[in-house]
Amino acid sequence: MPQLLAGKTALILGIANRWSLAYAIAQAFHREGAKLILTYQGERLKQTVEELAAGFNAQTLACDVTKDDDLARLTNELKNQGTVLNSVVHAIAFAEREDLSRPFAQTSRGGFALALDVSAYSLVAVAHAVSPVMAPPDQGGGSILTLTYLGSSRVVQNYNVMGVAKAALEASVRYLANDLGPSNIRVNAISAGAVKTAAARGIRDFSKMLESAAKLAPLRRNTDPAEVADAAVFLASDLGRGVTGNVLFVDAGIQIMGFALSE
Ligand code: NAP
Repeated sequence: MPQLLAGKTALILGIANRWSLAYAIAQAFHREGAKLILTYQGERLKQTVEELAAGFNAQTLACDVTKDDDLARLTNELKNQGTVLNSVVHAIAFAEREDLSRPFAQTSRGGFALALDVSAYSLVAVAHAVSPVMAPPDQGGGSILTLTYLGSSRVVQNYNVMGVAKAALEASVRYLANDLGPSNIRVNAISAGAVKTAAARGIRDFSKMLESAAKLAPLRRNTDPAEVADAAVFLASDLGRGVTGNVLFVDAGIQIMGFALSE
């Protein structure tokens, strides 16, 4: 079978470790022949990400998405080395742990601003930073993909301020898709089902959430990160060329459910 991303270069932001959804996406992109560039937030994650990158023969670059200087440096480094990007994956979110456990009504101004900055505004900032190095329209343009969650539009206990951030993220996907569409840059989100990762462990009672989701989902199981990654391949590849401004659910179907009677 031909590789779906052969000849394409992808920038992936948000690998913390082997359990990261961004790592599953990197594995799938590598399998499909993409050349990879991976970013890490800071020195704390440098070694881990470099070790993982070695498995893909990928370049690594530092980038804290809350720092404009880091984003400007990312653009310059990519420009200076003549990189032309076909695909960008934004898999980044953060909220204070207490804002993912106490009642939403108690969210502080600072906690709200932080969650929205890291988890939603950063997509806008990243899109702005990569636009100058995306492939031109006549060379296929490109794809920008972010990861979201059902808590954007439904109340999910303890997801709290992150749900508000995901709502802003999904709205940003639509506005960016409209702005960047004329440059043939597509912007989409995958709404992934719950997966146990470092970020998810910050949500109070996350294991209980996983148990309930597996019982309620039409497929009667949780989401496998590889399923999210394969959908990301589709959106980054030419197969997804007509899709933009979209939120694609890869969640074993749980988003269609209202409520179920307990057994
Ligand atoms: P993860 O492995 O912990 O990844 C989150 C990443 O965001 C980490 O690499 C983290 O780096 C990075 N990050 C946080 N602040 C940053 C900053 N200022 N600059 C650069 N990077 C920063 O968890 P994940 O679950 O795979 O999360 C990836 C995305 O999937 C997130 O948007 C998340 O909301 C979304 N998602 C997750 C699930 C789930 O159930 N796991 C479901 C749906 C959607 P540090 O470790 O250095 O902070």
